[in-house]
Amino acid sequence: MDASTFTAAAQSCIDEIANYYTTLPSRPVLPSIQPGYLRSLLPTQAPQDPESWPSIQADIERTIMPGMTHWQSPNFMAFFPASSTYPGILGEMWSAALTAPAFNWLCSPAVTELETIVMDWLARMLALPEGFLSQGEGGGVIQGSASEAVLTAMVAARERWLRRAIEKEGITDEEEKEDRICELRGKLVALGSQQSHSSTQKAANIAGTRFRSIATSREDGFALTGRSLRAKIEELKSKGLEPYYLTVTLGTTNTCAVDQFEAITEVKKDYPDLWIHVDAAYAGAALVCEEYQHYSAQFASFESFNMNMHKWLLTNFDASCLFVQHRRDLTDALSITPAYLRNQFSDSGLVTDYRDWQIPLGRRFRALKIWFVIRTWGVSGLQAHVRRHIKLGEMFADLVRGRSDLFNILTGPSFALTVLTVNPRRRKMVEPGVADGEDPRPYQDSHVAVTPQEADSKELDEANAATKEVYELVDKRREVFFTSSVIG
Ligand code: PLP
Repeated sequence: MDASTFTAAAQSCIDEIANYYTTLPSRPVLPSIQPGYLRSLLPTQAPQDPESWPSIQADIERTIMPGMTHWQSPNFMAFFPASSTYPGILGEMWSAALTAPAFNWLCSPAVTELETIVMDWLARMLALPEGFLSQGEGGGVIQGSASEAVLTAMVAARERWLRRAIEKEGITDEEEKEDRICELRGKLVALGSQQSHSSTQKAANIAGTRFRSIATSREDGFALTGRSLRAKIEELKSKGLEPYYLTVTLGTTNTCAVDQFEAITEVKKDYPDLWIHVDAAYAGAALVCEEYQHYSAQFASFESFNMNMHKWLLTNFDASCLFVQHRRDLTDALSITPAYLRNQFSDSGLVTDYRDWQIPLGRRFRALKIWFVIRTWGVSGLQAHVRRHIKLGEMFADLVRGRSDLFNILTGPSFALTVLTVNPRRRKMVEPGVADGEDPRPYQDSHVAVTPQEADSKELDEANAATKEVYELVDKRREVFFTSSVIG
């Protein structure tokens, strides 16, 4: 493909993409194919000879569309949103066009410098404490996912804890140090609450340390409390274990609960070596609005924070923004410099090499799409977007409340998430009686999670049974895809 055939192919591709978005509301959200459907539509071997672009493009509609779940449909309500916008798509196009895996500043200064600038913009937009800005000792870096951000923070936490312990013990001999580190690692425990995203447990598996979850309760709104954190730390320490890392959450996956940051800050005063990471993957977007920024101020003594622009802030996947208060913690843990990566600029210490802030070496030019999105909407546009969703979520909750014969609200609305169950006692009565012809739009952009995490309670069993019913009820009426989540 040369420049002129690329131009024609890209134009027809863009026409089809624009047409896809225009017709999206009328497409069924869920595919109606069986597992393995694609094998029967594609050849068993790669083509021996080149194919023309029109025949390749035609296969999108013929083979791919039938197997797509349309996350961008206005009728898709599962999970948290996964943004896609035209400016975000344009950012992806430019990123692909420029393909420059700029692991070092030198590998493409613009890639690094734009990232530093937009991360500082974002830190200010979210009113993060000053320590998270690059002008001081902190800064932001774009990761692929919140899970990656959590793992990166956890590895930095582990290394910081071990470094401090070795310093305290005054060990200088390298072999002795290595032996002692191996010994100490076996005692380390990463913490999350019962409601933390599973990425914390996964990160602990990868980081090779223990993981413990701290119970939450319905009375506390499924938030992690200072009281239960302190009790867990004391319990672990009495067994000779060392809690070194904790994920706290602004907007948990199940119910959008907000952990008790102020009480947790008090506990941290007694355990300063505990690294606290704020996972705000979804709800962090709301911090662009002043009315939510009191939360940001509560992160002042926490080490790291992440939010996903690709969830609620109009940026295409992937764009998870990780901020730290001390970038040295990342670089101390992740920087290894073989001869082929050395250069005068890195050696000068005047530039940022993002390879030392992340797990991979190479990296995509993700700052472009964030830059495009922020400039296209402006801060005021992004605030309006978040506020509109929150309003729709409230409208949705009002509608649910108006049908207390049918639904019980378990939590929320919190941000734009309402968690409900179908009233198990009434469902038989209402199933045939759901009115047709209601306008589905008020439900748009709201999220319906279904069950909280409370293992083996009777309520949970009922909620799970009701969840199945709600799928059936709603699927019969219109094409929506609701979220159900149950974690024991
Ligand atoms: N943290 C929270 C609170 C989430 O809700 C999610 C996903 O929904 C994640 C982390 C994981 O996100 P990612 O897919 O970016 O790893």
